[in-house]
Amino acid sequence: MRPTAAPSLAPAALRLGTEGAFAVLARAREIERTGRDVVHLEIGEPDFPTAPHVAEAAFAAIRAGETGYCPAPGIAELRDAAAAEIARTRGVPVAAEHVVVANGAKPFLLFAVLATCEPGDEVVYPDPGFPIYESAIRFAGATPVPLVLREHDDFAFSVDELAARLTGRTKLVILNSPQNPTGGVLDRATLAAAADVLRDGPAWVLSDEVYGRLLYEGEFASIASEPGMLERTIVLDSFSKTYAMTGWRCGYAAVPPPLVEVFTRFLVNSTSCVPPFVQRAGVAALIGPQDGVAAMLAEFRARRELVVSGLAALPGVTCRAPRGAFYAFPNVSALPLGADALADRLLEEAGVALLSGTAFGAAGEGHLRLSYATSRERLAEGLARMRAFLATL
Ligand code: PLP
Repeated sequence: MRPTAAPSLAPAALRLGTEGAFAVLARAREIERTGRDVVHLEIGEPDFPTAPHVAEAAFAAIRAGETGYCPAPGIAELRDAAAAEIARTRGVPVAAEHVVVANGAKPFLLFAVLATCEPGDEVVYPDPGFPIYESAIRFAGATPVPLVLREHDDFAFSVDELAARLTGRTKLVILNSPQNPTGGVLDRATLAAAADVLRDGPAWVLSDEVYGRLLYEGEFASIASEPGMLERTIVLDSFSKTYAMTGWRCGYAAVPPPLVEVFTRFLVNSTSCVPPFVQRAGVAALIGPQDGVAAMLAEFRARRELVVSGLAALPGVTCRAPRGAFYAFPNVSALPLGADALADRLLEEAGVALLSGTAFGAAGEGHLRLSYATSRERLAEGLARMRAFLATL
Protein backbone atom coordinates (compact mmCIF):
# COMPACT_ATOMS: atom_id res chain seq x y z
CA MET A 1 0.00 0.00 0.00
CA ARG A 2 1.30 3.45 -0.81
CA PRO A 3 1.65 5.81 2.21
CA THR A 4 -0.75 8.75 2.11
CA ALA A 5 0.70 11.17 4.69
CA ALA A 6 1.69 14.69 3.54
CA PRO A 7 5.42 15.57 3.40
CA SER A 8 6.61 17.19 6.61
CA LEU A 9 9.61 19.10 7.89
CA ALA A 10 12.27 17.68 10.17
CA PRO A 11 11.96 18.89 13.79
CA ALA A 12 15.56 20.15 13.60
CA ALA A 13 14.64 22.42 10.67
CA LEU A 14 11.85 23.93 12.75
CA ARG A 15 14.33 24.69 15.52
CA LEU A 16 16.40 27.04 13.34
CA GLY A 17 16.23 30.64 14.54
CA THR A 18 16.87 33.77 12.52
CA GLU A 19 18.27 37.29 12.78
CA GLY A 20 15.85 39.99 13.92
CA ALA A 21 17.74 42.52 11.81
CA PHE A 22 16.53 40.91 8.58
CA ALA A 23 12.88 40.87 9.73
CA VAL A 24 13.03 44.54 10.75
CA LEU A 25 14.73 45.45 7.47
CA ALA A 26 11.91 43.73 5.53
CA ARG A 27 9.24 45.66 7.48
CA ALA A 28 11.17 48.92 7.02
CA ARG A 29 11.24 48.32 3.24
CA GLU A 30 7.45 47.80 3.25
CA ILE A 31 6.98 51.11 5.03
CA GLU A 32 9.30 52.79 2.53
CA ARG A 33 7.21 51.45 -0.34
CA THR A 34 4.26 53.45 1.04
CA GLY A 35 6.35 56.59 0.50
CA ARG A 36 7.50 57.12 4.12
CA ASP A 37 11.12 57.71 5.03
CA VAL A 38 12.85 55.29 7.42
CA VAL A 39 16.20 55.82 9.18
CA HIS A 40 18.03 52.50 9.07
CA LEU A 41 19.82 51.70 12.31
CA GLU A 42 19.08 47.97 12.26
CA ILE A 43 21.57 46.27 9.94
CA GLY A 44 25.14 45.57 11.08
CA GLU A 45 27.00 46.34 7.90
CA PRO A 46 29.60 49.04 7.21
CA ASP A 47 28.23 51.72 4.86
CA PHE A 48 31.59 52.01 3.09
CA PRO A 49 32.54 50.57 -0.30
CA THR A 50 35.09 47.77 -0.48
CA ALA A 51 38.53 49.32 -1.12
CA PRO A 52 39.34 49.67 -4.87
CA HIS A 53 42.56 47.63 -4.66
CA VAL A 54 40.59 44.76 -3.09
CA ALA A 55 37.87 44.80 -5.76
CA GLU A 56 40.56 45.08 -8.45
CA ALA A 57 42.24 41.89 -7.20
CA ALA A 58 38.97 40.03 -7.78
CA PHE A 59 38.50 41.53 -11.26
CA ALA A 60 42.07 40.57 -12.16
CA ALA A 61 41.52 36.99 -10.94
CA ILE A 62 38.33 36.69 -13.01
CA ARG A 63 40.14 38.05 -16.08
CA ALA A 64 42.91 35.50 -15.44
CA GLY A 65 40.33 32.72 -15.54
CA GLU A 66 40.17 31.89 -11.83
CA THR A 67 36.51 31.01 -12.05
CA GLY A 68 36.48 27.29 -11.31
CA TYR A 69 36.42 25.18 -8.17
CA CYS A 70 39.38 25.51 -5.87
CA PRO A 71 40.58 23.61 -2.78
CA ALA A 72 37.74 23.35 -0.22
CA PRO A 73 39.64 24.77 2.78
CA GLY A 74 40.91 27.73 0.74
CA ILE A 75 43.58 28.73 -1.77
CA ALA A 76 47.13 28.46 -0.44
CA GLU A 77 47.79 32.21 -0.73
CA LEU A 78 44.82 33.12 1.46
CA ARG A 79 45.52 30.40 4.03
CA ASP A 80 49.11 31.73 4.22
CA ALA A 81 48.02 35.35 4.57
CA ALA A 82 45.31 34.53 7.14
CA ALA A 83 47.72 32.39 9.20
CA ALA A 84 50.20 35.28 9.24
CA GLU A 85 47.45 37.76 10.19
CA ILE A 86 46.18 35.63 13.09
CA ALA A 87 49.74 34.94 14.28
CA ARG A 88 50.59 38.65 14.20
CA THR A 89 47.43 39.96 15.84
CA ARG A 90 46.99 37.22 18.46
CA GLY A 91 50.66 36.49 19.11
CA VAL A 92 50.29 32.76 18.50
CA PRO A 93 51.96 30.39 16.04
CA VAL A 94 49.45 29.41 13.33
CA ALA A 95 50.27 27.11 10.42
CA ALA A 96 48.56 27.73 7.08
CA GLU A 97 47.25 24.12 7.04
CA HIS A 98 45.25 24.92 10.19
CA VAL A 99 43.42 27.79 8.53
CA VAL A 100 40.08 27.11 6.87
CA VAL A 101 38.30 29.63 4.62
CA ALA A 102 34.49 29.65 4.37
CA ASN A 103 31.67 31.78 2.97
CA GLY A 104 31.76 34.35 5.78
CA ALA A 105 32.17 33.78 9.51
CA LYS A 106 28.63 32.50 9.79
CA PRO A 107 29.13 28.98 8.39
CA PHE A 108 31.76 28.37 11.08
CA LEU A 109 29.14 28.91 13.78
CA LEU A 110 27.14 25.98 12.44
CA PHE A 111 30.28 23.94 11.68
CA ALA A 112 31.61 24.38 15.21
CA VAL A 113 28.41 23.28 16.92
CA LEU A 114 27.68 20.40 14.53
CA ALA A 115 31.26 19.13 14.74
CA THR A 116 31.41 19.08 18.54
CA CYS A 117 27.89 18.47 19.89
CA GLU A 118 25.50 15.58 20.04
CA PRO A 119 21.90 16.01 21.18
CA GLY A 120 21.95 16.64 24.93
CA ASP A 121 25.42 18.21 24.96
CA GLU A 122 25.66 21.74 26.29
CA VAL A 123 26.96 24.94 24.73
CA VAL A 124 27.67 28.07 26.78
CA TYR A 125 27.12 31.27 24.80
CA PRO A 126 26.74 35.00 25.54
CA ASP A 127 23.32 36.49 26.30
CA PRO A 128 22.73 39.02 24.87
CA GLY A 129 24.64 37.68 21.86
CA PHE A 130 24.58 37.19 18.09
CA PRO A 131 21.33 35.22 17.56
CA ILE A 132 22.87 32.65 15.24
CA TYR A 133 24.71 31.07 18.19
CA GLU A 134 21.50 29.96 19.85
CA SER A 135 19.97 28.99 16.51
CA ALA A 136 22.91 26.71 15.65
CA ILE A 137 22.88 25.16 19.14
CA ARG A 138 19.16 24.37 18.99
CA PHE A 139 19.43 23.09 15.42
CA ALA A 140 22.09 20.59 16.53
CA GLY A 141 19.80 19.39 19.33
CA ALA A 142 22.29 20.62 21.91
CA THR A 143 21.23 22.53 25.02
CA PRO A 144 21.83 26.30 25.00
CA VAL A 145 23.33 27.53 28.30
CA PRO A 146 23.28 31.35 28.32
CA LEU A 147 26.09 33.23 30.02
CA VAL A 148 24.61 36.59 30.95
CA LEU A 149 26.50 39.81 30.13
CA ARG A 150 25.59 42.62 32.51
CA GLU A 151 25.72 46.32 31.92
CA HIS A 152 27.28 47.07 35.31
CA ASP A 153 30.18 44.76 34.35
CA ASP A 154 30.58 46.72 31.10
CA PHE A 155 29.06 43.70 29.35
CA ALA A 156 31.86 41.31 30.27
CA PHE A 157 30.84 37.95 31.74
CA SER A 158 31.60 36.85 35.28
CA VAL A 159 34.23 34.10 35.27
CA ASP A 160 32.57 32.56 38.37
CA GLU A 161 29.32 32.33 36.43
CA LEU A 162 31.15 30.76 33.51
CA ALA A 163 32.69 28.18 35.85
CA ALA A 164 29.27 27.47 37.38
CA ARG A 165 27.81 26.75 33.94
CA LEU A 166 30.44 24.20 32.89
CA THR A 167 29.50 20.53 33.26
CA GLY A 168 30.88 17.26 31.90
CA ARG A 169 28.52 17.76 28.96
CA THR A 170 29.76 21.24 28.01
CA LYS A 171 31.29 20.62 24.58
CA LEU A 172 31.62 24.18 23.36
CA VAL A 173 31.96 27.66 24.86
CA ILE A 174 31.31 30.61 22.55
CA LEU A 175 32.98 33.94 23.28
CA ASN A 176 32.62 37.14 21.27
CA SER A 177 34.80 40.22 21.64
CA PRO A 178 34.35 43.00 20.60
CA GLN A 179 30.75 42.06 21.10
CA ASN A 180 27.55 42.27 19.11
CA PRO A 181 25.16 43.72 20.36
CA THR A 182 26.71 45.47 23.38
CA GLY A 183 30.03 46.79 22.04
CA GLY A 184 31.66 45.22 25.11
CA VAL A 185 35.28 44.10 24.94
CA LEU A 186 36.81 41.28 27.00
CA ASP A 187 40.10 42.28 28.59
CA ARG A 188 43.17 40.12 28.98
CA ALA A 189 42.62 39.51 32.71
CA THR A 190 39.08 38.18 32.15
CA LEU A 191 40.28 35.94 29.32
CA ALA A 192 43.20 34.65 31.43
CA ALA A 193 40.79 33.77 34.25
CA ALA A 194 38.38 32.14 31.77
CA ALA A 195 41.26 30.14 30.33
CA ASP A 196 42.03 28.84 33.83
CA VAL A 197 38.56 27.33 34.15
CA LEU A 198 38.43 26.02 30.57
CA ARG A 199 41.96 24.65 30.12
CA ASP A 200 41.41 21.17 31.56
CA GLY A 201 37.75 20.59 30.69
CA PRO A 202 36.03 18.87 27.75
CA ALA A 203 34.92 22.08 26.01
CA TRP A 204 36.21 23.50 22.78
CA VAL A 205 36.13 27.29 22.50
CA LEU A 206 34.77 29.28 19.59
CA SER A 207 36.21 32.78 19.84
CA ASP A 208 34.24 35.02 17.50
CA GLU A 209 36.64 37.88 16.76
CA VAL A 210 35.04 39.33 13.63
CA TYR A 211 35.11 42.85 15.18
CA GLY A 212 38.69 42.48 16.45
CA ARG A 213 40.01 45.42 14.43
CA LEU A 214 37.07 47.71 15.26
CA LEU A 215 38.22 48.85 18.67
CA TYR A 216 37.99 52.37 20.18
CA GLU A 217 39.51 51.86 23.63
CA GLY A 218 41.94 49.46 25.21
CA GLU A 219 43.71 46.64 23.40
CA PHE A 220 42.34 43.62 21.62
CA ALA A 221 42.87 40.30 23.41
CA SER A 222 42.11 36.75 22.28
CA ILE A 223 41.66 33.74 24.55
CA ALA A 224 43.77 31.81 22.01
CA SER A 225 46.80 33.74 23.29
CA GLU A 226 46.44 32.22 26.76
CA PRO A 227 48.72 29.25 27.49
CA GLY A 228 47.27 25.93 26.37
CA MET A 229 44.19 27.49 24.72
CA LEU A 230 45.16 27.58 21.03
CA GLU A 231 44.86 23.77 20.92
CA ARG A 232 41.16 23.97 21.82
CA THR A 233 40.14 27.31 20.33
CA ILE A 234 38.61 28.12 16.96
CA VAL A 235 39.78 31.68 16.24
CA LEU A 236 37.14 33.14 13.96
CA ASP A 237 37.61 36.20 11.78
CA SER A 238 36.01 37.60 8.65
CA PHE A 239 36.44 40.18 5.91
CA SER A 240 32.84 41.37 6.29
CA LYS A 241 33.17 44.07 8.93
CA THR A 242 36.89 45.00 8.92
CA TYR A 243 37.09 45.48 5.18
CA ALA A 244 33.48 46.45 4.39
CA MET A 245 33.00 43.20 2.46
CA THR A 246 29.74 41.75 3.84
CA GLY A 247 28.45 40.73 0.41
CA TRP A 248 31.64 39.02 -0.67
CA ARG A 249 30.94 36.24 1.83
CA CYS A 250 34.42 35.33 2.99
CA GLY A 251 35.66 34.47 6.46
CA TYR A 252 38.41 32.36 7.93
CA ALA A 253 39.35 30.54 11.09
CA ALA A 254 42.43 29.07 12.73
CA VAL A 255 41.16 25.65 13.68
CA PRO A 256 42.56 23.06 16.13
CA PRO A 257 44.07 20.20 14.07
CA PRO A 258 41.36 17.57 14.82
CA LEU A 259 38.68 19.93 13.45
CA VAL A 260 40.42 20.94 10.19
CA GLU A 261 39.34 17.88 8.22
CA VAL A 262 35.79 17.97 9.63
CA PHE A 263 35.35 21.63 8.68
CA THR A 264 36.81 20.89 5.24
CA ARG A 265 34.22 18.14 4.80
CA PHE A 266 31.40 20.51 5.79
CA LEU A 267 32.59 22.73 2.94
CA VAL A 268 32.88 19.78 0.52
CA ASN A 269 29.33 18.79 1.51
CA SER A 270 27.84 22.27 1.16
CA THR A 271 29.35 25.09 -0.92
CA SER A 272 32.49 23.21 -2.10
CA CYS A 273 34.62 26.33 -1.72
CA VAL A 274 34.62 30.11 -1.56
CA PRO A 275 34.94 31.44 -5.13
CA PRO A 276 38.68 31.74 -5.87
CA PHE A 277 38.40 35.33 -7.12
CA VAL A 278 36.74 36.28 -3.81
CA GLN A 279 39.67 34.70 -2.01
CA ARG A 280 42.09 36.74 -4.15
CA ALA A 281 40.27 39.84 -2.93
CA GLY A 282 40.76 38.55 0.61
CA VAL A 283 44.50 38.21 0.07
CA ALA A 284 44.65 41.79 -1.24
CA ALA A 285 42.67 42.99 1.79
CA LEU A 286 45.02 41.32 4.25
CA ILE A 287 48.36 42.15 2.67
CA GLY A 288 47.53 45.44 0.93
CA PRO A 289 47.23 49.00 2.29
CA GLN A 290 45.21 49.29 5.51
CA ASP A 291 44.42 53.00 5.31
CA GLY A 292 40.77 52.30 4.35
CA VAL A 293 40.32 50.37 7.60
CA ALA A 294 41.85 53.22 9.60
CA ALA A 295 39.64 55.82 7.87
CA MET A 296 36.50 53.75 8.49
CA LEU A 297 37.41 53.31 12.15
CA ALA A 298 37.99 57.06 12.55
CA GLU A 299 34.53 57.76 11.11
CA PHE A 300 32.93 55.11 13.37
CA ARG A 301 34.64 56.75 16.33
CA ALA A 302 33.10 60.14 15.50
CA ARG A 303 29.66 58.57 15.05
CA ARG A 304 30.02 56.73 18.32
CA GLU A 305 30.43 60.05 20.14
CA LEU A 306 27.42 61.46 18.33
CA VAL A 307 25.20 58.45 19.06
CA VAL A 308 26.21 57.90 22.68
CA SER A 309 25.84 61.56 23.64
CA GLY A 310 22.60 61.85 21.65
CA LEU A 311 21.08 58.76 23.29
CA ALA A 312 22.20 59.72 26.79
CA ALA A 313 20.51 63.11 26.33
CA LEU A 314 17.11 61.46 25.71
CA PRO A 315 14.82 61.46 28.75
CA GLY A 316 14.75 58.02 30.43
CA VAL A 317 17.66 56.65 28.37
CA THR A 318 21.23 55.91 29.47
CA CYS A 319 24.01 54.61 27.25
CA ARG A 320 27.49 53.26 27.89
CA ALA A 321 30.11 54.02 25.27
CA PRO A 322 30.72 50.84 23.26
CA ARG A 323 34.42 49.96 23.28
CA GLY A 324 34.34 48.09 19.97
CA ALA A 325 32.21 47.09 16.92
CA PHE A 326 29.64 49.67 15.68
CA TYR A 327 26.63 49.18 17.90
CA ALA A 328 25.15 51.20 20.75
CA PHE A 329 23.10 49.31 23.33
CA PRO A 330 21.23 51.95 25.32
CA ASN A 331 19.31 51.13 28.48
CA VAL A 332 15.64 52.06 28.04
CA SER A 333 14.26 50.22 31.07
CA ALA A 334 13.13 53.48 32.72
CA LEU A 335 10.70 54.15 29.85
CA PRO A 336 7.06 53.11 30.19
CA LEU A 337 7.32 50.60 27.28
CA GLY A 338 9.15 47.25 27.04
CA ALA A 339 12.01 47.06 24.53
CA ASP A 340 9.98 45.08 21.95
CA ALA A 341 7.04 47.50 21.99
CA LEU A 342 9.40 50.46 21.91
CA ALA A 343 11.31 49.13 18.90
CA ASP A 344 8.03 48.35 17.08
CA ARG A 345 6.54 51.76 17.72
CA LEU A 346 9.74 53.60 16.81
CA LEU A 347 9.60 51.88 13.43
CA GLU A 348 5.86 52.18 12.80
CA GLU A 349 5.25 55.64 14.24
CA ALA A 350 8.60 57.43 14.07
CA GLY A 351 10.27 55.81 11.04
CA VAL A 352 13.35 54.62 12.96
CA ALA A 353 14.40 51.01 12.32
CA LEU A 354 16.39 49.50 15.18
CA LEU A 355 16.31 46.30 17.19
CA SER A 356 14.96 45.35 20.58
CA GLY A 357 17.66 43.96 22.87
CA THR A 358 15.55 40.81 23.14
CA ALA A 359 16.46 39.99 19.51
CA PHE A 360 19.78 38.95 21.09
CA GLY A 361 18.40 36.89 23.98
CA ALA A 362 16.27 37.29 27.09
CA ALA A 363 19.03 39.26 28.84
CA GLY A 364 18.68 41.99 26.21
CA GLU A 365 15.37 43.14 27.75
CA GLY A 366 15.43 46.82 28.68
CA HIS A 367 17.80 47.69 25.82
CA LEU A 368 17.72 48.70 22.17
CA ARG A 369 20.47 48.03 19.65
CA LEU A 370 21.37 50.72 17.16
CA SER A 371 23.94 50.18 14.45
CA TYR A 372 25.88 53.39 13.78
CA ALA A 373 27.14 52.14 10.44
CA THR A 374 25.23 54.93 8.74
CA SER A 375 25.97 58.59 7.99
CA ARG A 376 26.13 61.23 10.73
CA GLU A 377 23.23 63.09 9.08
CA ARG A 378 20.98 60.04 9.23
CA LEU A 379 22.08 59.27 12.78
CA ALA A 380 21.18 62.81 13.84
CA GLU A 381 17.82 62.48 12.08
CA GLY A 382 17.16 59.13 13.84
CA LEU A 383 17.98 60.66 17.24
CA ALA A 384 15.71 63.65 16.58
CA ARG A 385 12.85 61.32 15.66
CA MET A 386 13.43 59.27 18.81
CA ARG A 387 13.33 62.41 20.93
CA ALA A 388 10.06 63.53 19.35
CA PHE A 389 8.52 60.10 19.80
CA LEU A 390 9.56 59.78 23.45
CA ALA A 391 7.93 63.14 24.16
CA THR A 392 4.57 61.59 23.20
CA LEU A 393 4.78 58.75 25.77
N1 PLP B 1 29.68 37.03 14.29
C1 PLP B 1 29.13 38.17 14.75
C2 PLP B 1 29.27 38.53 16.20
C3 PLP B 1 28.43 39.01 13.88
O1 PLP B 1 27.87 40.15 14.35
C4 PLP B 1 28.30 38.63 12.52
C5 PLP B 1 27.52 39.45 11.56
O2 PLP B 1 26.74 40.30 11.93
C6 PLP B 1 28.89 37.44 12.10
C7 PLP B 1 29.57 36.66 13.01
C8 PLP B 1 28.79 36.95 10.68
O3 PLP B 1 29.65 37.63 9.85
P1 PLP B 1 29.94 37.17 8.34
O4 PLP B 1 29.36 38.24 7.46
O5 PLP B 1 31.42 37.08 8.23
O6 PLP B 1 29.28 35.85 8.13
